[in-house]
Amino acid sequence: MSAPAQRPITREALVALDHADPLGGFRDRFALPPGVIYLDGNSLGALPAATPARLAEVLTREWGEGLIRSWNQHGWIDLPLRLGDKIARLTGAPPGSVIAADSTSVNLFKALSAALALRPERRVILSQPGNFPTDLYIAEGLARLLGRDHVLRLAEPEALDSSVAVLMLTQVDYRSGRLLDMAGLTAAAHAAGALVVWDLSHSAGVVPIDLAGSGADFAVGCGYKYLNGGPGAPGFLYVAPALHARLELPMTGWLGHAAPFAFEPTYRPAPGIARAAVGTPPILGLSALEVGLDLALAAPIAEIRAKSLRQTALFAQLVAQECDGLGLRILLEPERGSQVALAHPQAYPIMQALIASGVIGDVRAPDILRFGFAPLYVGFAEIWDAVQVLREVLRSGVWREARFQTRAAVT
Ligand SMILES: *Cc1c(COP(=O)(O)O)cnc(C)c1O
Repeated sequence: MSAPAQRPITREALVALDHADPLGGFRDRFALPPGVIYLDGNSLGALPAATPARLAEVLTREWGEGLIRSWNQHGWIDLPLRLGDKIARLTGAPPGSVIAADSTSVNLFKALSAALALRPERRVILSQPGNFPTDLYIAEGLARLLGRDHVLRLAEPEALDSSVAVLMLTQVDYRSGRLLDMAGLTAAAHAAGALVVWDLSHSAGVVPIDLAGSGADFAVGCGYKYLNGGPGAPGFLYVAPALHARLELPMTGWLGHAAPFAFEPTYRPAPGIARAAVGTPPILGLSALEVGLDLALAAPIAEIRAKSLRQTALFAQLVAQECDGLGLRILLEPERGSQVALAHPQAYPIMQALIASGVIGDVRAPDILRFGFAPLYVGFAEIWDAVQVLREVLRSGVWREARFQTRAAVT
């Protein structure tokens, strides 16, 4: 690890950046606990300050008083598509092409299955070996279910050939933070006759996304990361409008029917993306997600992106400056989302010691300390303070204590 060429960064310089930050006002719109520096918004976004009151209103007024009338009176039935249109605005998709529903894993199953149905003469789903495990597991399970020589092939996108039906990629790598070129890779897949499914879980809300402009066929993403929808928030599914007329989805539930309340005995798909609904929408989860989406839509994505790039670069520079010789490897991707990975053989206990000191990130096996920077609520001076805690944890060796060694179920 070499010393940075720049003049040393000071805490004062970072405080000045906070004062000049055009997004500084968003911090108070989140309910973060005192004494915590939260660098894990890429895994579970923070609680928006308005969410508790909104949920209380949905519980007591809409559910408690409105009862079943609220499906119509409070527009519950429209929430998946109404929120889908908000997500469309965040991801460069046209209205009517996104639905907020189900988990990312389930939406991936739907998207992959629909894509394979559009390429019946081909059998291969191509994805990168380092893709997020649920994406790979879902593809593996679907290939097994379909039989007929369907396979998941793990290789880099250069392996695209005429056997590939679908290229499945995650825009921002969950471990390294590397950002892929959506337009370029989509064009390459199309040139090889394949369709593309993009997973936007680590990019929606923090990276400018142009689904329509890039020609993406399908996309899925997560509601509880940078969209701040809360634990287990509904995810989303995008299908390019050009594919809607031929769109065959594997789960044909009643809410994706053209007329759910006609109670017909056979399935007729609703027009467009509405057919991607399966069962009754989770109104509490969608209501919380809407608060997070409204916050994301209130902030210009160009400002978010500029702050994100600056924060991740500063964090890496500061770690180089303050933690030199302490055994960390900095893995800063030049093309990246909003996170930085540091490698250390003792990543797990080091992260537990950091969390005990109020700096929350997470670890990804075997040796990655992961720090996410959600520009709506992470400040610049906090980056200084977090790096000082990291330095102290490493210098003191406090992470060697027995209490930091036990593994919890969720890392
Ligand atoms: C977070 C994440 C998921 C999460 O899937 P769930 O079904 O919500 O558990 C899926 N894929 C990627 C790439 C992710 O980052």
